[in-house]
Amino acid sequence: MTGGRAGGYAARETMRALAILVAAGRGERMGADEPKAFLPVAGEPMLLRAARAFDAAPSVEGLVAVVPADRIGAAREMLAGVRSLRDVVGGGERRQDSVLAGLQSVPAGFDGVILVHDAARPLVEVPLIEAVVRAADEIGAALPVLGLVDTVKRVRDDRVVETLDRDALGAAQTPQGFRVAVLHRAYKLAFRDGVNLTDEAMAVERLGEPVVAVQGSARNRKLTTPEDLAWAEALLRRRPE
Ligand code: C5P
Repeated sequence: MTGGRAGGYAARETMRALAILVAAGRGERMGADEPKAFLPVAGEPMLLRAARAFDAAPSVEGLVAVVPADRIGAAREMLAGVRSLRDVVGGGERRQDSVLAGLQSVPAGFDGVILVHDAARPLVEVPLIEAVVRAADEIGAALPVLGLVDTVKRVRDDRVVETLDRDALGAAQTPQGFRVAVLHRAYKLAFRDGVNLTDEAMAVERLGEPVVAVQGSARNRKLTTPEDLAWAEALLRRRPE
């Protein structure tokens, strides 16, 4: 990575990233027997497809996959051709427990950017990964945020209570990137305080530290239901990679 400004942030010579791919969820909404990240999208398991995207990103120098404990061997085989793979570890009960398991594989002394990515977003692309790394390196924490197309209501007991200002809202995606010290500090305090995290940025926000939103991507959708899988396959048929 050369110096100068790229994507609005000053890129530094030392910018290096290590990616944690979380794939230990059961994915019950998919209605399949396999854990979700092991399901194929256009013939390739989600986890492998996501891992190949990170492998192709110039700033990513290492990758840790977090999978269900009984799938560690299968995942090692699946990811055998992924050059930057460092480790495959078993995940935990909650997403944040899986991220913590991945963090334990980060080599001591690593002082770059940690990326956390949902393996269930297998269509992530290199420019988005690089934009998150650059912003996280510069500011400390960054994530892709996608504007909402639907009007959003606050609902209580089947009654609409309020219409929220859609223009002020956005959907959080991954990869979420953090300087390693920022993520360690935020995670330590979130676990100490017993907070349930739905993403990693939330742990940093509660410390009052800055989190940058980079432009998210519709293609980077989290594949949750069989309909999402069909959408991804149709997209890949039209525009293969
Ligand atoms: O369940 P959800 O779709 O929000 O999960 C997002 C990502 O987090 C998925 O890639 C899933 O495999 C992962 N996850 C995990 N460990 C858990 C729960 C979710 O690695 N306990």
